[in-house]
Amino acid sequence: MGETITIALPQVAVADSTIESPAGRIIIPGQHLPEKRMDIDVAVVQQLLSTARAAAANAHAPYSNFHVGAALIMADDPEQRIITGANVENSSYGATICGERSALTTASSLGFRALRYLALSTADSLTSPLCDRSPCGICRQSIREFISRSSNAREALILVDTAEPGTLCEAFDIDRLLPYGFNFAPPV
Ligand SMILES: [Zn+2]
Repeated sequence: MGETITIALPQVAVADSTIESPAGRIIIPGQHLPEKRMDIDVAVVQQLLSTARAAAANAHAPYSNFHVGAALIMADDPEQRIITGANVENSSYGATICGERSALTTASSLGFRALRYLALSTADSLTSPLCDRSPCGICRQSIREFISRSSNAREALILVDTAEPGTLCEAFDIDRLLPYGFNFAPPV
């Protein structure tokens, strides 16, 4: 392990609220998340971000011209290989798959189920930086699928780069990326 940095994911403190209405009592759920500190390996982050940027060059994006690349490492991969993906658009639009899900389906097809790192970049960063554009809703749920299966789920991170190649802009854990994700089996 090389040089590490500690990042602090901020506390989220939103209380439940209850509204009495003629239609009934409505409970608006809140989220309470403590601050979370995580040590991340600088070299791993830089390699993931630059690999994601290179993968973006393979995006098939003739309609949006938004070329997104993803690079991930699965926690349950003994080789800790970097698996890549890119968005693949379709003339029917609805058949399009985002870069995140492209990489995740490859990883899952190889037999891995537990995400450790997912880095995102775009070949268009200089004009359309990914920073401040986090994953879309369907990708958040797909990412969640492969974090909830990890025994070390709390350590999984989603990383987004900036206009500067290989420079980290945003970091998320799944609780902050998708606070109200779908569970097939509701918590008891
Ligand atoms: Zn998406």
